[in-house]
Amino acid sequence: METLVLNPAYQPVARIPWQRAITLLFLGKVEVVEAYEDQTIRSVSFELKVPSVVRFLRSLTRRKPVIRFSRENVYARDNGRCQYCQKHVSRAEATYDHVIPRAQGGVTSWQNIVIACVPCNQRKGGRTPEQARMPLKVVPVRPTKLPDSLRVTLSFQKGMPVAWQNWLRDLTYWHGSLDEG
Ligand SMILES: [Zn+2]
Repeated sequence: METLVLNPAYQPVARIPWQRAITLLFLGKVEVVEAYEDQTIRSVSFELKVPSVVRFLRSLTRRKPVIRFSRENVYARDNGRCQYCQKHVSRAEATYDHVIPRAQGGVTSWQNIVIACVPCNQRKGGRTPEQARMPLKVVPVRPTKLPDSLRVTLSFQKGMPVAWQNWLRDLTYWHGSLDEG
């Protein structure tokens, strides 16, 4: 079960496990906007309906986002393209190539991992781009921002709690009205 999180302006910002929402509630950071009517948590000292929608009471301080090093995020950074031949590869087909092979001291990091298609990865083998004469077009770096197209957007989908529908519909509305302004 998940809880939808709104900012103080009632715009959706995230979806989180309900347990995290309870923690935020007890820390006094959020208020309950809507709750799952049929889901109650009981303890010795309290009884509470599981929140389906919560709202932050104060604006979140914007920290510079730290993008976690993960396969999905490397794929997103490289725009789903083999960094050697620039062909598009699906997530299932993508291989993760050590630019400097591990056998030659290469580490697993943002700066040394790129997406490669299977043929390029096989052709390169245990060699550096220089040794294999397969130069990279872009130097791999830690990204500060992931491409928008690959970010998960919050829109209402089948299977989501019904209580979210109004709030996620508002998001579309907000986008529309912001564009006009
Ligand atoms: Zn390739």
